[in-house]
Amino acid sequence: MEESIMPQIRGAAKKSLHAKHDALADTQRQLELLSGGMFADGELPTFKARIAQAGKFPLRPKKLEILQINLGYMCNQVCGHCHVDAGPDRREIMDRHTMELCLGAIGRTGAHTLDLTGGAPEMNPDFRWFVEEAAQAGIQDFIVRSNLTIILANKKYHDLPDFFKKHRVHVVSSMPHYTRGKTDKQRGDGVFDKSIKALKMLNAVGYGDPESGLRLDLVHNPSGAFLPGDQAALEHDFKKALWEDFNIVFNHLFSITNLPISRFLDYLLASDNYEEYMVALVDAFNPAAVEQVMCTNTLSVGWDGTLYDCDFNQMLGLKVSGKPSHIRDYDEAVLQDRDIVISQHCYGCTAGAGSSCQGTVT
Ligand code: SF4
Ligand code: SF4
Repeated sequence: MEESIMPQIRGAAKKSLHAKHDALADTQRQLELLSGGMFADGELPTFKARIAQAGKFPLRPKKLEILQINLGYMCNQVCGHCHVDAGPDRREIMDRHTMELCLGAIGRTGAHTLDLTGGAPEMNPDFRWFVEEAAQAGIQDFIVRSNLTIILANKKYHDLPDFFKKHRVHVVSSMPHYTRGKTDKQRGDGVFDKSIKALKMLNAVGYGDPESGLRLDLVHNPSGAFLPGDQAALEHDFKKALWEDFNIVFNHLFSITNLPISRFLDYLLASDNYEEYMVALVDAFNPAAVEQVMCTNTLSVGWDGTLYDCDFNQMLGLKVSGKPSHIRDYDEAVLQDRDIVISQHCYGCTAGAGSSCQGTVT
C-alpha cells in the first residue's frame, strides 16, 4: 500500500489518556487487548509461541550495555503516537532520592551507555543536578532524549544546548519527518517549526558537526499504521532535505517502529487499524531481530525506581521477573540472570529490520 493512502495519525492528542480517565490508561486493559482477539482464538501466534518456534524462548539478557532511566512522564507535548502517554498533565516524575539511588547504580554498572528519557526529562526540576552528577561517572555514551521543542518552551530552557555541550551529552531527538505536514500531524501544530529552530540552536553550539564530537541523532517513526521504511534511505532523505531547506546537520537517524501501546494503541483501535497492524507485525516477524532486541542489552528504570526489561514493558507495568525489581536493590549480576517478560507488543521489536531505541537492530 502506498504510504500516502495509508491511515495516518490525526494530530496531537489534547490530553493524556490518563487525564481523560480513558479505559486504555489502565495497563491491565492494554494487556488484555494484546492477549485477546486474534491471539486468543489462535488466528495469530502469540509472541511466546512464535519465538519458541524459532528456538528463542525464553528470551534472556546478554551483556548489559545500556541503562535507561525515565525521569518522568511530564512533557510539554501530547503527541498522538506517544507510548508513554506523556503530557503536561502527568505528574509522575523521579524525585531526588530515587536519582541518588540511580547514581549509586550508575557508579557500579558495567553498561557503557546511560540513556535519560521521559516525557521531557528536562522538565524534571532536578534534571540539571542529575546530569551534572551522572556526567562525573565517566560513562562512555551519555544520551539525553530531547523532544527539541522543550528548548523553546520557556526561557529557562533556552540555554539547554550550552548545558548539553558543557557535559558532552549525546542528544537524541525525535523528529518524525522532514516535512512540516507529517511532523505536525503527529505532534501538533507548530511543532515542526519549533523543532527546526531548536535544531539550529544545537547546530550553533557544534551539535551534529562531525569535527566537534557533539553527537546529535534524530528519531523517525511512521506517521500511521505502517512499518518504517529503510533506515539508511530515510537518513539520506532527512539529511538532504534538512540541509537543503534549513542548513541543518545531524549525525544519524534512528528509524523506529510504533509499538501497539498506549496512545498508539488507542489510535489503532479508534481508526479500526488494530487487527491489520498486528497482522502486519506478525507477518514481518524476523527471527534474526530477536537476538538483538533492546531488552537483551538494556535495563529500564521507571520514575519511581522500579526496574523493567525495557521502556515498553515499563509503560505496560510489566516489572522485571523475580528480584530485585527496584533500583534500591540494584544488583547487576542477579538481574542479568532472568527471563525477559514478553507479550504481543514485542512483535513491534522484531518486525522487518527490527526496532529499538537505537533504531533498527539487524
Ligand atoms: S515528545 Fe515524546 S514523550 Fe512527549 S508526548 Fe511526544 S512522544 Fe510522548
Ligand atoms: S517490547 Fe521490550 S521486552 Fe518486548 S521484545 Fe521489545 S524490548 Fe524486548
